Amino acid sequence: MTRTALVTGGTRGIGKAVSLALQAAGYRVGAVYRSNTDAAQTFQKMTSVPVFQWDVADFEACRSGVAQVEQQLGPIDILVNNAGITRDGFLHKMDADQWWRVMNTNLGSVFNMSRHVIEGMRERGFGRIVNISSINGEKGQLGQTNYAAAKAGILGFTKSLALEGARKNVTVNAIAPGYCDTDMMASVPEQTLQAIIASIPVGRLGTAEEVARMVAFLVADEAGFITGATFDINGGQHM
Ligand code: NDP
Repeated sequence: MTRTALVTGGTRGIGKAVSLALQAAGYRVGAVYRSNTDAAQTFQKMTSVPVFQWDVADFEACRSGVAQVEQQLGPIDILVNNAGITRDGFLHKMDADQWWRVMNTNLGSVFNMSRHVIEGMRERGFGRIVNISSINGEKGQLGQTNYAAAKAGILGFTKSLALEGARKNVTVNAIAPGYCDTDMMASVPEQTLQAIIASIPVGRLGTAEEVARMVAFLVADEAGFITGATFDINGGQHM
């Protein structure tokens, strides 16, 4: 049986690598994006992975988006909640929009998406949800009260939903990547980037493929005893 996987933010960066890894592992894959249609179309042309455009911060958009994906690809067995953004700033300069955009996109989306697939997973007796958190949700980071709060929230969500799904063969895990070489890092000033790299014991940024490898491992049928866990992939930066 070919299982269906949906990856949010699956057209660029870590999500793109996840989409490709799952496609290579034999899954039927769909990828959600928000606004970068050029990147999404290029991705679709190169990979033949169907892409879907909606805002994962919007509960109703997730409802209709999930229905569309399921009509086209079949019931979603595997959900990778990967979409995320940053809107950094010290709290004393942060406005409410910066706070809520990050909370709604990075944490709200995990509820919005999981809510629309969880009933089907429970009914079918199989589900795999992988939530992409961050090293900064574990250790905090200057200028990221919003991002760190959302990413830490994902860890509590993951453990609670793991408990709820345990008897239904629905596993829920989180991955907390360290700094990876994606577009998200492009806005980091060169001096800061060098300081970050100097603080990583392996001496380099991670790659999207290194995170994707863990996602593919966790969503396998054989990974049913792994649930409620957080996997650090950070080059030894935080232990
Ligand atoms: P990128 O900025 O490279 O890609 C983000 C992806 O998410 C894009 O496909 C984007 O769509 C999509 N997206 C963003 N907002 C929405 C939305 N509201 N609705 C639907 N799709 C959306 O990010 P990364 O690959 O770097 O990061 C992926 C995840 O990994 C994020 O959750 C991030 O927080 C986390 N992470 C990243 C780290 C890093 O160093 N890169 C470190 C730790 C965690 P579009 O192309 O349309 O913009």
